[in-house]
Amino acid sequence: MSERVLPEHHHDHRDVTGGWLRPAVFGVMDGLVSNTALIAGVAGGGAPPRTVALAGLAGLVAGAFSMATGEYVSVASQTELARAEIEVEKAEIARVPAAEEAELAGIYRARGVDDATAREVARQLSRDPETVWRVHAREELGIDPDDLPSPWTAALSSLLAFTLGALVPLLPYVLGGTALLVPVLLSLLALFVAGALVSRWTDRSALYSGTRQLVLGGAATGLTYVVGTAVGAGV
Ligand SMILES: [Zn+2]
Repeated sequence: MSERVLPEHHHDHRDVTGGWLRPAVFGVMDGLVSNTALIAGVAGGGAPPRTVALAGLAGLVAGAFSMATGEYVSVASQTELARAEIEVEKAEIARVPAAEEAELAGIYRARGVDDATAREVARQLSRDPETVWRVHAREELGIDPDDLPSPWTAALSSLLAFTLGALVPLLPYVLGGTALLVPVLLSLLALFVAGALVSRWTDRSALYSGTRQLVLGGAATGLTYVVGTAVGAGV
């Protein structure tokens, strides 16, 4: 029986684990939703356009820095945790190399590799004590030690993305507009586009993702407008 030799198959996996893309896309949507809602609430309360613009600007700056620090802390602690786990692995490999090799064999066995092959793979991978910890990091911890996400990248991209999103409802006011309808419609359109873009990395259709984002953002804006109107009528 002849074995067919298949050509090597390569395919690119989409970036689903982090990096700059996730915080950027969600930052834009966050900026859109929170600043459109803020502007609608303040305008609903009866504030003059100048005050609405000032509130929108403050919302942009406060939101952008809050997003950036949140992303920074979240990614930094994730990376620190990963590094600490890697140190534990390194120490264990130095202390009980045979047990760690057996552990590796066990992982491959659990994935359906037969005992002899699993032991052989673990033996060959454990040959170089300088690199075997990388194998353990990938197989046991599920992390790529050479590609840990940077907290600065995440922070900066979410800061810029939030600013971009928050600018959309603010821009008409900055340009001298006075009607609330224009910034709200602009934002809803942008939310639909951003939601549709997200569908590129999910298994949802662009129409579904875009519409969902539009409906949720519209609801947040509508509710804040109602609250602003109610409070504004009382003061
Ligand atoms: Zn291990």
